[in-house]
Amino acid sequence: MNEYDSNRILDLTKKINYSLTKNLNETNCYVLNTCHIREKATDKVYHDIGRIKKEFRNKKKPIVIITGCVAQAEGDILLKREKYIDAVIGPQSYHQINDTILKIERKLKPTNLTEFDVIEKFDSLNSIKNSDNKISSFLTIQEGCDKFCKFCVVPYTRGAEFSRSIKELIIEAKQLVENGSSEITLLGQNVNSYNFEKKKLPDLIFEISKIENLKRIRYTTSHPKDFTKELIEVHKNCEKLMPSLHLPVQSGSNKVLEAMNRKHKIEEYLEIIEKLKKAKPNIKFSSDFIIGYPGETDEDFQQTIELVKYVKYINTYSFIFSARPGTPAFNLEKVNQTVAKKRLIEFQNLANKIKSSYKDNLIGNISTVLFENKTLNGDKYFGRDEYSNSVLVRSDKNLIGKIKTIKILKSNQNTLFGEIATNTGQNNYAA
Ligand code: SAM
Ligand code: SF4
Repeated sequence: MNEYDSNRILDLTKKINYSLTKNLNETNCYVLNTCHIREKATDKVYHDIGRIKKEFRNKKKPIVIITGCVAQAEGDILLKREKYIDAVIGPQSYHQINDTILKIERKLKPTNLTEFDVIEKFDSLNSIKNSDNKISSFLTIQEGCDKFCKFCVVPYTRGAEFSRSIKELIIEAKQLVENGSSEITLLGQNVNSYNFEKKKLPDLIFEISKIENLKRIRYTTSHPKDFTKELIEVHKNCEKLMPSLHLPVQSGSNKVLEAMNRKHKIEEYLEIIEKLKKAKPNIKFSSDFIIGYPGETDEDFQQTIELVKYVKYINTYSFIFSARPGTPAFNLEKVNQTVAKKRLIEFQNLANKIKSSYKDNLIGNISTVLFENKTLNGDKYFGRDEYSNSVLVRSDKNLIGKIKTIKILKSNQNTLFGEIATNTGQNNYAA
C-alpha cells in the first residue's frame, strides 16, 4: 500500500513540476513514506535524515517531508525533535502535498497534516494515469481497519474501514489497462471487507475482469474472518484471478489467536483453505506470522509449526512480536526474547525448506509468465508466474508486456530461471 501511495504522491507532485530522481545530488525535495507496523520505523526516519543532512552539509537544504504512518503516529514528536523536517503528512492527507510543498518553498512554518480525510483524499487524487506504463499495477480499493487485533497500529494510523466507489475503481482500472497494465492487484488492509453500497469484493473482481486487455487479477491482504463463500466461488469462476492467495493467520494456536483478537479459530481458517483448494485445485497460499506473541508457549509455537507443515505455504512473512505504543498488547509481558528468536529461526528454517522444495519441484515444469521489464544490466527479462514467483529469461525478442510459456530450468530461494518453452532449438538458459 505504501508503494501505491508513493506512486500517487509522485503523480501529484508532477503537477507542480517535481519529478522522480535517483540522483542524490540533484534532489531538492525528499518524501520519506513510512511504515509504523513494527519497532525501529521511527529510528529509520532519523537515520535517513542523518544521511540526507550529511549529503547536503555544504549545499542548499532540500525540502524534507515525512509521510505515512510514522508521520500519523508521531508527527508532533518528529517536528519537535528534528528541525530538518519541514512537514509531516499522514496517510489520509497526502492529497495536500502540493500545497504543503508550495508553502515550504515560500518558507512558511513546519506543517502537521494528520487528520483523517479519506473521502476527500480519494476524491482529489486524480484518476490514476499509470504514467509510467507499468505492466503490473496496484489499485487501492479499501483502506483502514475495524478489526483491532491487539498488536496492530493500523486501526489507529490508517483509521476506520473505508471502501471506494465501484464506479470510480472501474474507471481507474480501465485507465491502468489503457496505459499498459496487464495485471492489477487490488489492495486493502482488509481487502475482502470491501463493501460499497452492498457491492462486495467478488462483485468488484467480476466487473474488473470484464476489462478486455486485463489479463491477471490479484488481491491482498485478506482477513480470514471476511472470507465469504461468494469469494471462494470467484476463485472457481474467474479465470483472470490468479491461483495464489495471501491469507495471514499469525499463529497456529487458538489460544494465541484469541489473545490477539483475531476473531476466528484455526479450524475455520483451515476450512477456508480446504474450500479454496476444492474450488481451485492448483491454488497455493502465503501467510504472515507473529512469533513470540505474549503468552505463546512452546506448545502454541509447535501448533504454528504443524500448521506450516500442513498448508505448505509457498511464501511466509514472519516477525517476532513487536510491542507498538498505543496498542492493547503494548504492556503485555513479553516472551523471553532469546526463546522468541530461537522460535523465529526454527520457523524460518522450516518455511524456507518448504519454499525451496516447492521451487525445486518446478524445475522442468512449464510456467505462464507475464514479463514486466528488463534486468538492470539489460540481458534478461523479468516476469512473474501465476504464483508471483520471479522468473528470469534471456530472449532476443522484446518480452515486456507479453505472457509466455516458460520452461523452468533452475531455481534459487528467490528466483526461477527459464527459457521460452516453444523455443526448443536454442538454449535461452539464464544462469
Ligand atoms: N490486515 C492484515 C491481516 O489481518 O492479516 C495484515 C495487515 S498488517 C499491516 C501486516 C502484517 O504485519 C500482519 O499480518 C502481522 O503479521 C504484522 N504485524 C502487525 N503488527 C505487528 C506487530 N506488532 N508485531 C509483529 N508483526 C506485526
Ligand atoms: Fe492490523 Fe490486519 Fe488486524 Fe486490522 S486485521 S488490526 S490491519 S492485523
